[in-house]
Amino acid sequence: MKPNNKHINIVGARQNNLKNISLEIPKDEITVFTGVSGSGKSSLVFKTIGAEAQRQINETQNSFTRNRLNHYGVPDVDKIEHLNVPVIISQKRLGGNARSTVGTATDIYTSLRLLFSRIGQPFVGYSGVFSFNHPQGMCPACEGLGFVSKINTKELLDENKSLNEGAILFPTFQPGGYRWLRYVNSGYFDADKKLRDFSKTEWDLLLNADEHMPTHPNSSWGKTMRYIGLLPRIENDFLKRDSKEHNIRKKELQKIVVSTTCPDCLGKRLNENVLSCKIHGKDIADCAMLPIDELLKFIKTISSKPFNSLLEELKMKLNNVVDIGLQYLTLDRSTSSLSGGESQRIKMVRHLGNSLENLLYIFDEPSIGLHPKDLDNISSIINKIRNKGNTVLIVEHDPDIIKIADHIVDIGPGAGVDGGQIVYQGSFNDLKTSGSRTGAYFSQKRSHKISPRKAVETIKIKDATMYNLKELSVDIPLNVLSVVTGVAGSGKSTLIRKVLPSQFPEVRIIDQSPIIGSSRGTLLTYLGIFDKIRKVFAQANKVSTQLFSNNSLGACSNCKGLGFEKIDLAFMDDVELPCEVCNGSGFTPEVLKYKFQRKNITEIMELTIEEALTFFRELEFVDNFRLLTELGLGYLKLGQRLNTFSGGERQRLKLSAELEVRNHIIVLDEPSIGLHPSDTQMLLDILERLVEMGNTVIVIEHNLDIISQADWIIDIGPGAGKCGGQLIFQGTVDSLLGYKNSETANYLKSYLN
Ligand code: ADP
Ligand code: ADP
Ligand code: ZN
Ligand code: ZN
Repeated sequence: MKPNNKHINIVGARQNNLKNISLEIPKDEITVFTGVSGSGKSSLVFKTIGAEAQRQINETQNSFTRNRLNHYGVPDVDKIEHLNVPVIISQKRLGGNARSTVGTATDIYTSLRLLFSRIGQPFVGYSGVFSFNHPQGMCPACEGLGFVSKINTKELLDENKSLNEGAILFPTFQPGGYRWLRYVNSGYFDADKKLRDFSKTEWDLLLNADEHMPTHPNSSWGKTMRYIGLLPRIENDFLKRDSKEHNIRKKELQKIVVSTTCPDCLGKRLNENVLSCKIHGKDIADCAMLPIDELLKFIKTISSKPFNSLLEELKMKLNNVVDIGLQYLTLDRSTSSLSGGESQRIKMVRHLGNSLENLLYIFDEPSIGLHPKDLDNISSIINKIRNKGNTVLIVEHDPDIIKIADHIVDIGPGAGVDGGQIVYQGSFNDLKTSGSRTGAYFSQKRSHKISPRKAVETIKIKDATMYNLKELSVDIPLNVLSVVTGVAGSGKSTLIRKVLPSQFPEVRIIDQSPIIGSSRGTLLTYLGIFDKIRKVFAQANKVSTQLFSNNSLGACSNCKGLGFEKIDLAFMDDVELPCEVCNGSGFTPEVLKYKFQRKNITEIMELTIEEALTFFRELEFVDNFRLLTELGLGYLKLGQRLNTFSGGERQRLKLSAELEVRNHIIVLDEPSIGLHPSDTQMLLDILERLVEMGNTVIVIEHNLDIISQADWIIDIGPGAGKCGGQLIFQGTVDSLLGYKNSETANYLKSYLN
């Protein structure tokens, strides 16, 4: 094959575990990258192809930024030719900014604003003022947030105490603190008087007084200090999101602050003037509160010849959201409350709206969070993107997405050092007979659980009504493996992750969220094994254990033992560069002289779990390593930092910590994410083991390999959002198969055939 510009041509890729591989990827087609977890798919697709495509764009940046980025971001590859401008659609959630909504993130709100500024009655100004982020559009009372934060004085103050006794409960206002001094020294109060005995004037001074020079003769202040009431003081110093102390005191603030719907705009975020502008009796905020399918119906009732193309564009964008299965969302929903899968699809919608071609789209497991029914929509959208003349690369484990590939690249054969090679390239049909693990999965016979466990006891949820749940009651069987199914947005997470724990607080939820405080942490510290290894080193070398701690004696002084330095780049994510002094080890050269069985501490960090299993075989902590190997994580390196793990890896790591427990109620949210189909069996074995040990396991899952092996199914639906929230079915897989009115049943039937 000769490279030409109909292919992306990759030569000599060696990032992470890739074994100097070369390949050509057809342009204007869909290529799906498969392979077991840790085989090197992300290393090739994101860290090599995606990184290089971005680097080539960065060439257009100013030279300072460019040098910084090049230093860090050059993937380990000889060359890549014929790359297009990349659009990388990852699982990273959309920002937590309170001003970012489904409407703003999809750009649909922009079109809606334009429409209101053209045909709304009366005319109030150009489209910009319809934005709640615009000073002339926002509600002045809540500054466009839709809610106001108020301090709950009941939680802030203890009326049965005096100032001297610590009546102000918030930190930094405690007796002796400098903020407390200002109130005590103001001369306005008797510091020994209980607050409940304060006069109205005293209360007013304490809580609400505007900033002023204290005039009271008893004031022991000089002429320079000003006085301000407690409420404005806390608002200024803590409530403002950009105040320095806002983040530090978040937890304590939650206790004293209540958010309520803004009384002026009733949550609509806009001022009266803007809200007076209407189309067919609805203002723009009314529109943003409608589920998107209803909004589409409403827009279809509008006709205006001069603005036909604007209306068509708006309908097209709304239609895209419906097609992608998010018709149940509203434009005013804040993006921070969306699930990972919802976020990813919102990002997709944004790109469907534009008509650019010749782009390189890269997707990271687009199947996440999706029921097989939703997958049909996603597949057709990805097809649309390709048909516009774009190249699509997808890292994916889901059989239904793998099937839409024009071209498949299977990486393997194993994980970590045993992977990094191309085991198969070609069509989906030939994959089945290729002999690879992915191929084997597709050619094997499917069956469902023959003899499910019977529950003796249940826990009961009665009349749950949160979000879209419609007085849903369900009995969840104890000591069996239950799988909760239903289309995205039907209410599974609301029921299992919100309602269930509120009634049974002992429920343990194992998900993919980041591990807290993990910037210094490595796999070893997470497992609690680092201390033990330090001891082993200290004993073997007859020195202090302190020496091997990377936050004390033996730590590299340049990076404080971190092994990397953080670099701030304006407008971009921070980048981390390996420390130049210690080359990333985090230790002083002296420490590296000490060895255990001929390896120094950083060489130990480089071992994979599987290697460590043999290396430390005589020590008791290897049992931990064995568990992780059984979870398919044997390829991870001991020193790998926690913040570099993928969501799926994190979830399995957390799962490993549960494997010793009994009599727990354990909830897993899509544990199949990031798992190759051939690894799913191993996950099922672990879930079975948890149940055998006396635990109750409840899994929210779309993966049919897992659904088919449940003892008990709880199906929520029938649709998403307001069309969901009902219990559709509960029972065994066998009886589900005989049930007509469940989408899940239909897909399960065709899966088993
Ligand atoms: P996949 O996407 O197929 O699950 P990856 O490309 O993420 O696999 O990982 C391939 C190998 O590279 C694994 O052994 C993994 O632990 C390793 N790896 C991934 N990211 C890093 C990193 N930032 N530093 C060191 N090793 C890494
Ligand atoms: P699933 O887990 O089945 O995908 P969810 O339980 O996440 O579904 O969602 C059920 C419904 O509740 C959807 O209409 C969703 O938009 C709504 N919902 C979920 N979280 C929130 C939230 N934080 N605020 C408002 N609505 C929410
Ligand atoms: Zn308001
Ligand atoms: Zn260093």
